[in-house]
Amino acid sequence: MLIIGSHVSFESDQLLGSAKEAVSYGANTFMFYTGAPQNTMRKEIDLNLLTEAKKYMEENGIDIQNVICHAPYIINLANRTDDSKWQFSINFLKQELSRCDALGIHYLVLHPGSAVGMPRDTALQNIADALNLVLEKSVQCKILLETMAGKGTECGCTLEEIKFIIQNVQHDIGVCLDTCHLNDSGVSIVNFKEYLDLFDKEIGLEKIGCIHINDSKNELGSHKDRHANIGYGTIGFDALLNVIYEEKLKDVPKILETPYVGHTWEDKERLFPPYFFEIKMIREKKWNEKLLEDILDIYDKS
Ligand code: FE
Ligand code: FE
Ligand code: ZN
Repeated sequence: MLIIGSHVSFESDQLLGSAKEAVSYGANTFMFYTGAPQNTMRKEIDLNLLTEAKKYMEENGIDIQNVICHAPYIINLANRTDDSKWQFSINFLKQELSRCDALGIHYLVLHPGSAVGMPRDTALQNIADALNLVLEKSVQCKILLETMAGKGTECGCTLEEIKFIIQNVQHDIGVCLDTCHLNDSGVSIVNFKEYLDLFDKEIGLEKIGCIHINDSKNELGSHKDRHANIGYGTIGFDALLNVIYEEKLKDVPKILETPYVGHTWEDKERLFPPYFFEIKMIREKKWNEKLLEDILDIYDKS
């Protein structure tokens, strides 16, 4: 069975609100941030809402094992120029993991970090060192390192870098592939099978715990990282469909992080989530070249 969902909000009613939003998109999984991705303000977990959320998920065909949490962007384990900032990231990541454990979430996606002024190999070692400090036997939730586009000084944008981190961490960590990031880092999604074979040889397919399904606004190898709606970018519908329906990855949750759709980008009040329509298109395996117009039409009438 296809396991598919999108990024959803955690703001209203925590996991219960997230699950309801996911169901409204026709999804059977989802990904959320425990608070705003840019800051570390976090609300306390409401246990009553959590009980309700778990019941709601069970009734609506969402297996909590497939639900993904995303760590905030401000965590940067790569740069240790300021040791107190590095320690802060470590502590915050620890807290995120215990929040995931309290919620019963099994996977936390993490951007490996940006080297900023540090040499790349030092930065990679910093990431591994940090993860060794973060992870303890008592932690249940598994960290998935996201493959990055290589924007600025981002680490984790090649197989070698991801492999280095995994090999230098004493605990079991996994990987989250992001199709937009792979494309922007120089991996052709049209030749995804080739990449998978290489990944299997170097790291092992069993390490893949999540896949972010995004089209890309930029060319192969652009190192940009701007997501496009499914079929509206340089990767294209058919190539993305091949990733989504890859037999070897059939048990891996697929998460859409495609942009909201609006008449203009300035009108932030009238941006609509595309996920219901994109998921439908993916399930039907049929490309709708008028998708974005249709979405605006439907929301304008409602
Ligand atoms: Fe991410
Ligand atoms: Fe992503
Ligand atoms: Zn991205």
